[in-house]
Amino acid sequence: MKSMDEKLLAKTGFKGPIFYSEPMFRHTSYRIGGPARIFCVPQDVNDLKIALNFSYQEGIPCYIIGNGTNLLVSDEGFDGMIIKISGVFNGFQFLGERVIAGAGTDLSFLIHQAAKNGLFGWHFAVGIPGTVAGAVVMNAGSSTLHMGQHVVKVWALDCQTLDFVEMRKEDLCFQYRKSILDTGKWIVLEVELLLQREEPEKIFSRIEELLLRRKQVQPLNYPSAGSVFRNPDNAYAGKLIEDAGCKGWTEGGAMVSPVHANFIVNYKGARAIDVGRLMGRVRRVVEEKFGVCLEPELKIIGNWPDELAEFLRPYRG
Ligand SMILES: Cc1cc2nc3c(=O)[nH]c(=O)nc-3n(C[C@H](O)[C@H](O)[C@H](O)COP(=O)(O)OP(=O)(O)OC[C@H]3O[C@@H](n4cnc5c(N)ncnc54)[C@H](O)[C@@H]3O)c2cc1C
Repeated sequence: MKSMDEKLLAKTGFKGPIFYSEPMFRHTSYRIGGPARIFCVPQDVNDLKIALNFSYQEGIPCYIIGNGTNLLVSDEGFDGMIIKISGVFNGFQFLGERVIAGAGTDLSFLIHQAAKNGLFGWHFAVGIPGTVAGAVVMNAGSSTLHMGQHVVKVWALDCQTLDFVEMRKEDLCFQYRKSILDTGKWIVLEVELLLQREEPEKIFSRIEELLLRRKQVQPLNYPSAGSVFRNPDNAYAGKLIEDAGCKGWTEGGAMVSPVHANFIVNYKGARAIDVGRLMGRVRRVVEEKFGVCLEPELKIIGNWPDELAEFLRPYRG
């Protein structure tokens, strides 16, 4: 990366907050991660364009985050620009059984607002701690149900041309925890979703049941980023990890949760390297015992030692 005066961003007319060497542990559900060289929160589309243009002109890598709940940032941090889209771009409106929501809308908040309006159907999404865009980009959900099933359209900004694009569900290639949006080519601005009519009372009691169920099966008392590995074809990563005897394994302050084996929790001031090493150990033993090679579900950024980078495949820009 060429050397540059990152403070120049403040002179471009960018209106939102800008931080330099901002610790990423403040912006991830893992409470882990070293500094981002530049960290900014655009207030509107114009700000977003300014930030993207700045990153292009200065030749610095750029990465978009929502709530950072599926993210592992290395201890060295990210030598580039993080653009946070959460708490901004958060308007929404209901139109019959449809909802149009801004990218940065908190998904749980939207689920509750939709429930008040008698709209539901996305049971799998209750308790997912991300933004609307993060959930659509990741096609978040359960093993069988996912956000893509509810998406009608997405409006996004092309990161290279800075043009607006409207993409329909069929353009988005939703697959298990994947979509075409997951390539970093676009920034999602707004999403149209289709839900189903139900009585609000019934919805709220169902939401309570689902949240209770999550508390029983997920280790919500420690910071985490949800499931660390993708489910392989016809198997559950958590079951393989449990059957391989990894529950309770630790590395530094990271632990394979005794509650849910596919969660590696930050139980005691874990560093990113602890999580990475533990993922490596788990992956090795599952491959030895069952011949299955687990792939990370987490999004991973920053610099990592070669032996971990090989399977973590971090985004460096
Ligand atoms: C306790 C816990 C439980 C969880 N349970 C589930 C679950 O049941 N199912 C599930 O699927 N996941 C689950 N997760 C993982 C995570 O919450 C989801 O993947 C969530 O959808 C991520 O949203 P986010 O806003 O935090 O995205 P981030 O983690 O910030 O980003 C995720 C990806 O989306 C991209 N992105 C974010 N916003 C935009 C945007 N506007 N435009 C373009 N790209 C963008 C990022 O670049 C990154 O690649 C869980 C996590 C935790 C901590």
